[in-house]
Amino acid sequence: MPNPVLAIVGRPNVGKSTIFNRLAGERISIVEDIPGVTRDRIYAQGEWLGRTFDVIDTGGIDILNEPFMSQIKLQAQVAMEEADVILFLTSVREGVTEADENVARLLYKSGKPVILGVNKADNPEMRADIFEFYSLGLGDPYPISGSHGLGLGDMLDAVVNEFPSAEELEEEDDLIKFCLIGRPNVGKSSLVNAILGEDRVIVSSIAGTTRDAIDTTFEDEEGARFTMIDTAGIRKKGKVTESTERFSVMRALRAIDRSDIVLVVLNAEEGIQEQDKKVAGYAHEAGKGIIILVNKWDKIEKDNHTMKEFEEKIRNEFQYLSYAPILYVSALTKQRLIHIPAKIKEISQSQNRRISSSVLNDVLMDAIARNPTPTDKGRRLKIYYATQVSVKPPTFILFVNDPELLHFSYVRFIENQIRKAFEFEGTPFKVIARQKK
Ligand code: GDP
Ligand code: GDP
Repeated sequence: MPNPVLAIVGRPNVGKSTIFNRLAGERISIVEDIPGVTRDRIYAQGEWLGRTFDVIDTGGIDILNEPFMSQIKLQAQVAMEEADVILFLTSVREGVTEADENVARLLYKSGKPVILGVNKADNPEMRADIFEFYSLGLGDPYPISGSHGLGLGDMLDAVVNEFPSAEELEEEDDLIKFCLIGRPNVGKSSLVNAILGEDRVIVSSIAGTTRDAIDTTFEDEEGARFTMIDTAGIRKKGKVTESTERFSVMRALRAIDRSDIVLVVLNAEEGIQEQDKKVAGYAHEAGKGIIILVNKWDKIEKDNHTMKEFEEKIRNEFQYLSYAPILYVSALTKQRLIHIPAKIKEISQSQNRRISSSVLNDVLMDAIARNPTPTDKGRRLKIYYATQVSVKPPTFILFVNDPELLHFSYVRFIENQIRKAFEFEGTPFKVIARQKK
């Protein structure tokens, strides 16, 4: 089940990161080497009354060289697009400012639940000063003190109360969620429009969820439901500057987090670039299903070898993605677009596949018989038993005599044997070694 999302919005210095750090338990793991992305500051996981949720500190979105108000607007926009509930922070020390009023108007229009936190209410007198905040038209203000940890409980009760119910989030979970990721101009928007071609049944809204603003849900002929998560939205709305470009990388990562399957879009004319590799690597590490789309195939002059040559290049550059199918498509001529939803469905089945332990162990013992386990410093690796512990991505535990003896190459071998025996196209999987006591 996906976590509900809480976004913190407010002008600089009201205490967003202070509150964020209070709410943040375990930080959501991140990829460090993506330039301009300080995601560890921006996303975290929180918990209140047994309910876990993701928190976004929109103040941590570092958008350089933008005027103050447009920065705040972008932050509010992220919150409105991604959050189930928005925590709008103000400060009792400055009172209601013009910037607060502007943000309030934006949030009000979004129709999302907004909880109004009035920070820096460090003592009882100040708690009495919060009444002017009713003028923002966002309901009851909650007096809190981030630095003293006061009032947070009441505020969080209100937040949790506005989260979608577990059933609503489950229902969302039935959908196959995917996104298209790629550098600017590879053809993402064109593909989005072509995939959503006129004959698709668009399910306009998903009951009870508040996230459908940027997500389009549609059905295929067989009634399977897909949600396409849009990542191009903001960039298309404003002018493309370097900072909004960096910002769109960050949104892309967030879209990957929320997706089951990632369509990595390449431009056939330009081949594979560094950024493609980073984003694909991120999706792989996150255990997402992956399809590689080579778009603008119409522009390539072809002979009998062209596709094979492309495939070799891609396989060589993306070695860890050997499981990912490659489709050569054109948003312009619609060539092979029809295969995309079908592939997505297959991969969805792969990533949800469960192999019974008895069948799995038959395959494993067979594999070991053919390629005996290695020895290291005179000790032989012994694999006793394997079991699949989860799906999305399929995760297997191997019980062994000593995990240190299980080298990468042997894990690779076992992984390949499992892939040969069962259909796991398009999904990474994990193999974990445990010592059998
Ligand atoms: P942000 O820019 O909104 O993320 O704000 P910060 O969390 O960085 O806080 C700005 C300043 O306000 C820092 O100096 C904090 O120590 C201070 N601050 C945050 N919360 C409180 C509070 O509850 N009371 C007081 N007095 N100061 C606070
Ligand atoms: P995005 O930035 O990734 O969303 O890319 P767009 O969808 O805006 O496309 C960028 C440009 O490439 C536009 O001029 C499109 O018309 C063009 N384009 C997109 N897909 C194709 C394709 O399959 N073939 C050709 N020839 N042009 C395409």
